[in-house]
Amino acid sequence: MMQDTIAAIATPSGEGGIAVIRVSGDEAVAVSDRLFSGKSRLENVPTHTVHYGFIREPRTGIRMEEVLVTVMRGPRSFTKEDVVEISCHGGFVSVRKVLDLLLENGARLAEPGEFTKRAYLNGRIDLSQAEAVIDLIRAKSDRAFRIAMKQSEGSLSKRIAELRHRLVELMAHIEVNIDYPEHDVEELTNSYIKDKCLAALEDIERLLATAEQGKILREGLVTAIIGRPNVGKSSLLNTLAQEDRAIVTDIAGTTRDVVEEYVHVNGIPLKLLDTAGIRETSDVVEKIGVEKSRQALSDADLILLVFNGAEPLLAEEREMVKELADRQVIAIVNKVDLPQQLELEELVKAFGEDRVVRMSLLEHEGISELEKAIAGIFFSGQVEANDLTYVSNARHIHLLKSAKSDLTEAYTAAEGFVPIDMIQIDIRNAWEHLGEIIGDAVSESLINQIFSQFCLGK
Ligand code: GDP
Repeated sequence: MMQDTIAAIATPSGEGGIAVIRVSGDEAVAVSDRLFSGKSRLENVPTHTVHYGFIREPRTGIRMEEVLVTVMRGPRSFTKEDVVEISCHGGFVSVRKVLDLLLENGARLAEPGEFTKRAYLNGRIDLSQAEAVIDLIRAKSDRAFRIAMKQSEGSLSKRIAELRHRLVELMAHIEVNIDYPEHDVEELTNSYIKDKCLAALEDIERLLATAEQGKILREGLVTAIIGRPNVGKSSLLNTLAQEDRAIVTDIAGTTRDVVEEYVHVNGIPLKLLDTAGIRETSDVVEKIGVEKSRQALSDADLILLVFNGAEPLLAEEREMVKELADRQVIAIVNKVDLPQQLELEELVKAFGEDRVVRMSLLEHEGISELEKAIAGIFFSGQVEANDLTYVSNARHIHLLKSAKSDLTEAYTAAEGFVPIDMIQIDIRNAWEHLGEIIGDAVSESLINQIFSQFCLGK
């Protein structure tokens, strides 16, 4: 158990109705009592109760803030330690003042993610659950949120624990045979090992199969909207953005500030590329020779290729169609409200019937067809994991792949009648790799790295 008491502002900075400061540690209640004046001292109140009062400057007794204080004694708290949450008026100055007073009176400023880290170190959650907390905070769609919620509740941990349990049984079985080598047993043991490895491999495969969708749900389907000028790219962008209020994040610190824009289509998040470019110039085809646009195009998981149905295909468009034939493309034939000139045949031949959508963005026609086509790409051939256990974290995927290759080795070795104590090593490695997912025997530096991704106060 860690001793010192930490404090941080748990709500985002800026103006708001209220702001919350969180305090955790052995002294959480005592430190808060030094500042709080209410009906009773916090050290005497029952756990999990809320108290009205004031924060006073201890030396002068001056009232600084009117607050509601929640006291949650460990181990029934987020960190398993004593936790006090102080709700005060929103706005930068008042919260900052209260935090400063806490820091002057025995608390230390928490590092980013330190509350969650304590929850992990104190054994309330495992590592994959802690990582899910980051996903919860960052979730950009309902579905991503629900998946992160499931994982934070331990859905992935449970699967991994079951798998590891079976590997332990297998190792125990092998151990017995190493200790009591009898004739005849070898044959039996090898086929037993093979069966068990195969079963475990199947489970790992099933988890890995969710990885692709999981990644998309987490990060968005990277989507480029392209087409020559005036075909309706901006109109498409605006239509998508209207269907669902777009989330725009600015990522500073890159050579040029990149604007990421997210829209949701049937709960599937699309991360639209270079939307600023589309809005400003509308000339993506002209710029297509430019290296940057090429890059955007090659990064995209999905390309929405827009055409003007009222005009025949141009040579440059035929060129694009040819170039993109082996990519995930949805051809959007826009302006179907006007007399049609475009031959659909060519597009259907290149991309397939389901991937050619006729729309009138002006008259809001064809939107549900477009949604259907996008969902078709997302769920292509795969059913949705109905228990919402998706593996989406790159670290988890990497470890699952390592475990998979360990078990494949074990299987091959068993087939080749390699001595079983050698096979044991592979199985043990698989067991350890799986253990790292839930935080068994991971290094301190990895733990620090994971928790540093959190925001302050979480
Ligand atoms: P962009 O240059 O590809 O971004 O195209 P815009 O979205 O700016 O659209 C170019 C012009 O086509 C605008 O005047 C739009 O109003 C018009 N437009 C867009 N969609 C339609 C449509 O479905 N039907 C018709 N008739 N006009 C459209």
